[in-house]
Amino acid sequence: MLATARTFTLDGISARPVRVEVDVHRGLPNFTIVGLPDAAVREARERVRAALVNCGFEFPLKRIVVNLAPASLRKAGPGMDLAIAAGLLSASGQLEWEGLARVALAGELALDGSTRAVQGALAMAEAARESGAEAIVLPAENGPEAALVEGIGVIAVDSLGRLPGLVEGSWDPPRPQPLALRLDPSPAAPDLADLRGQPHLRHALEVAAAGGHSLLMVGPPGAGKSLAASRLPSILPPLAPAEALEVARIASACGRLESLPAGRPLRAPHHTISAAGLIGGGSPPRPGEATLSHRGVLFLDELCEFRRDALEALRAPLETGEVSIARAGGQRNLPCRFMLVAAANPCPCGRGETDPDCACAPYDVQRYQGKLSGALADRIDILAAVAQPSAAEIGGPSGEPSAAVRERVCAARERQEWRLGAGRSNAEMTPAEARACALSGDAANLLADLYARQRLSGRAHDRALRLAQTLADLAGVEEIGEEQMAQALQMRRRGRD
Ligand SMILES: [Zn+2]
Repeated sequence: MLATARTFTLDGISARPVRVEVDVHRGLPNFTIVGLPDAAVREARERVRAALVNCGFEFPLKRIVVNLAPASLRKAGPGMDLAIAAGLLSASGQLEWEGLARVALAGELALDGSTRAVQGALAMAEAARESGAEAIVLPAENGPEAALVEGIGVIAVDSLGRLPGLVEGSWDPPRPQPLALRLDPSPAAPDLADLRGQPHLRHALEVAAAGGHSLLMVGPPGAGKSLAASRLPSILPPLAPAEALEVARIASACGRLESLPAGRPLRAPHHTISAAGLIGGGSPPRPGEATLSHRGVLFLDELCEFRRDALEALRAPLETGEVSIARAGGQRNLPCRFMLVAAANPCPCGRGETDPDCACAPYDVQRYQGKLSGALADRIDILAAVAQPSAAEIGGPSGEPSAAVRERVCAARERQEWRLGAGRSNAEMTPAEARACALSGDAANLLADLYARQRLSGRAHDRALRLAQTLADLAGVEEIGEEQMAQALQMRRRGRD
């Protein structure tokens, strides 16, 4: 007898439909899985066999062939166990499931028949809805994330033994409560009030947050660079519900949904990370840190220590907001619209050449700064020189709290969204949009003058415009004035004044 069931395999952060065909034939007892399965899928044989027996079903001593279609698609992970088991029960006549073809199933089975959570259940529920399935059956732990998807039934089961009751109609589980998406950072999140003094750094953070600009902080260790970066999510605007769903989809595909942050994500990978770890890779492609920081902040501390190839790999995604991974089956795109924040020491010893204690040889300093300018420098909008805070600053009153800064940031973002469309910020303006910014005569002269004198590249010219526009949005003025332009040009340089 033949039975078919629908399931999914995870590919990047999207779920691809897989048809499970189960054929049970008389012959020498044998259990084969074909259709490009990986090791975890092949091992489903052992899990399904034990789960069936331990749930009181019979494991047919016949020739069993499971075909996973389409055969050209690589199937990975243990998430197909439940569909294979259901197909086997139907094909062996133990479960008369007429509607099997109209539902989708996903889930791993334990040897005792209980279900175990799968990665990417949110994407799978979406894919099930798109494929026209009436409902998706999945493990109980995955219920809340799948329930975020409207327009499809969600049946959460804790064991394979639940299927007969479900099919007969004697067990009718309620739809699971959907996961609560937290759009705002939790009240216990670190607050910007902890950053004492440092007016330049505070201003740079506020402008970066207001326009979604990338920021590089250069200063000695202990100057508060890491502290500042960790407070950035608390001054960014709350996530829109659609954005929060994107963040949850990525976390779900990486199996990190339990640690889903409240508000925008902040990722701070160590500098030894590989290019694949940073932007994603592998087969099937797995998201990297860039994708995990989608809609949030990617913080690269000790920027000069990162591997050159890793930073190079980040350049294109920074520009397009997407990671493209070429694979045999075609190209996979993973979203990665994040704010880049980086920190670096001014010289190898960290004190800075102007410090009398700096013992770095001029050659070393030169080489180090060469690394700094090579590393993504042309992708950085704001360069902030950070000095060690004075004793008076450290002992002084705490700084302005995040909530107050965030209010100004949100007001500036509102102006941007009104101009550019929902969810977009000045940093994402196309060159054409940047050049269409309203500019006073004085501001235009200032920019043209610098453009001619310093031979600014076209890219740098547009970056200055984007930054000046953010300063104008923060000031609440309709056109970029001379003051905002001068300040923008200043913030793009590494001045210490
Ligand atoms: Zn030094």
